[in-house]
Amino acid sequence: MDQVLYNSTRGGETGVTASKAILKGLASDGGLFVPDHIPALDKPVSALAGKKYQEIAYEVMKLFFTDFTEEELKACINAAYDEKFDAEEIVPLTKAGNDYYIELYHGATIAFKDMALSILPHLMTTSAKKNNIKDKIVILTATSGDTGKAALAGFADVPGTGIIVFFPKDGVSYIQKRQMVTQKGANTAVVGIDGNFDDAQRGVKEMFGNKELEAKLSAAGIRFSSANSINIGRLIPQIAYYVYTYTKLLAEGEIAEGEKMDVCVPTGNFGNILAAYYAKCMGLPIENLICASNDNKVLYDFFKTGKYDRNREFMLTISPSMDILISSNLERLIYKMAGEDAAKTAELMNALKDGGVYTVTPDMKAKISEFVGLFATEEETKAAIKDLYEKTNYVIDTHTGVAAAAVAKYKKEHGADRKIMIASTASPYKFARSVMTAIDPAYDALDEWTLIDKLSEITDTELPPAIKDIKDAEVLHKTECATADMQKTVEDIISKQF
Ligand SMILES: *Cc1c(COP(=O)(O)O)cnc(C)c1O
Repeated sequence: MDQVLYNSTRGGETGVTASKAILKGLASDGGLFVPDHIPALDKPVSALAGKKYQEIAYEVMKLFFTDFTEEELKACINAAYDEKFDAEEIVPLTKAGNDYYIELYHGATIAFKDMALSILPHLMTTSAKKNNIKDKIVILTATSGDTGKAALAGFADVPGTGIIVFFPKDGVSYIQKRQMVTQKGANTAVVGIDGNFDDAQRGVKEMFGNKELEAKLSAAGIRFSSANSINIGRLIPQIAYYVYTYTKLLAEGEIAEGEKMDVCVPTGNFGNILAAYYAKCMGLPIENLICASNDNKVLYDFFKTGKYDRNREFMLTISPSMDILISSNLERLIYKMAGEDAAKTAELMNALKDGGVYTVTPDMKAKISEFVGLFATEEETKAAIKDLYEKTNYVIDTHTGVAAAAVAKYKKEHGADRKIMIASTASPYKFARSVMTAIDPAYDALDEWTLIDKLSEITDTELPPAIKDIKDAEVLHKTECATADMQKTVEDIISKQF
């Protein structure tokens, strides 16, 4: 079979097997692992129509994780996509208005991060076994809200692992915070920092790059790995749901064989939309990729002008999981745009690190003309949620609301030639206050749990188990620290708890 190996976007590591890249997370030169080529689907799309989610996941992952055996991969897939999901089909699809909403929020923590983080621990422990690694794997993660809980849920009590999650203590929703601080499991730690998501992510990246720390931990039989969306063990499993959704639409006769669709993804760290791009590169009939941003519209500006500039005010929005000014996974696209030139990629990323800005040439930009950047303001997002609810009775969360608003703009600017799949990235229950007040501002007077019951009433849906479970749960994590003290906090947790 066609072997896929992984190279760092910055040139420092090449020819790394999938299992080793999954174990490491970030390459040692600070770059991201990218496949040395994107394999094409080895069957016609029509031959995949009607297959179950787990089967499609295998068809996709086997092409990228070529050093895993069939047995190993299928064991990971079956352990991940099981009754932890509150929908048997794993990824239900809802047509509302003229668009198709890919519901990626039926996992343990009701956000799309579960799609990847329910499989990552299994890929990681399998990778450790394959490579004869006996060290304890400590997962270090920065979260803008959803990754944290999904990673905690995935890794809790997995033997041979520990997990430490950093979140901006004033930058996540009530439910997101409650989900994290009530997490059970002796190998879990949750820390609120006095900075934003970018601060948390920078702190984590610095620890990954710290050779002294690495040596010290190694002597104690510990190694770090990452559950952030920079890990290819997260990125690749996300390709599966685009393939699955397309084949499902084909099986149901909603689209014709070979018919091109557009995809819209509410974007933050650029992992989800990159997975859609990889699906296109594998041969899935996708035309445009609509990258939807909230008021932190650094990506919109980038796709418009070719200039990536993070020097701007950081905005807190009602779609907090997209409140990001440094979209880490974009580096993989930059590498592609640079013609896989690692030196050029490193130069641009260093410019971003030093001055917060880089600019790509028109030639580079022309290579990714299928990306359309759009953004939605808070008001536009709320209006999109309300409008969809009033017209179709379907309620979407605030992140998906950004995408719905972007799609409305897209249709105005580009016409409505193709059908559109929208990545629906969180359950409205997770952001009940923002969602309900978008529908009617009067709801803002109600307390969080009454709002949740109201949402259940107006949508005639049951509270997801993920919400029920945290209502009366005990707060188990109270640690907070300054951004500058993240490393000290990690060393403390490791020595006392792991
Ligand atoms: C993480 C997240 C996003 C952004 O996804 P990226 O892969 O980081 O671009 C969007 N919506 C929700 C609900 C999320 O949790």
